[in-house]
Amino acid sequence: MNTEELLDLIELITSVHIVKIKASTTKVGEGETVVGKLNDTNKRLWHLFVEARNSLEVQANNLRIKQEAHQALHETAEVKKHDCAAFHAEMTLDLQTFERDSAHADLLKQVFWAAVRLQFPEILTKPQIGVREDFQVVWINSDKDEVPAGAHVVRITLEGPGSLGSLAEILRHRQ
Ligand SMILES: [Zn+2]
Repeated sequence: MNTEELLDLIELITSVHIVKIKASTTKVGEGETVVGKLNDTNKRLWHLFVEARNSLEVQANNLRIKQEAHQALHETAEVKKHDCAAFHAEMTLDLQTFERDSAHADLLKQVFWAAVRLQFPEILTKPQIGVREDFQVVWINSDKDEVPAGAHVVRITLEGPGSLGSLAEILRHRQ
């Protein structure tokens, strides 16, 4: 991240209205230890991180619908009437936007979890941490899913319909 990107990020963080931030609704689970609550800056980062993730899911879902509609069109007589090259050109632009937003979401995610660990140094080496209701920060005691310290930043939690998995599907269909 260069200085300009860092300044953009700081501006973005300070632009979030603290009163509008929705907390997680996930309750503290078994084997989870609460270490405290997110501070205001980290609540803002949380908001940006969640917003970016949700937006990506919506985008991926829209792209999938668009792709499926196009495929369906190719199975009908209507196929002769449409401009296939124009469709693919549009899709390429959409995917570029998605890739850019995806990289931005990933940056926010990494910055967010790093900031949470810095707020609570006692969880710096915990492989799994999370945010629960009322902005509570937990570390998760799980021996069945050990991750080496430091590897947490690559844990992507975009799963389910309209996820990055679906996007991989879109990319496959394009070829
Ligand atoms: Zn076509």
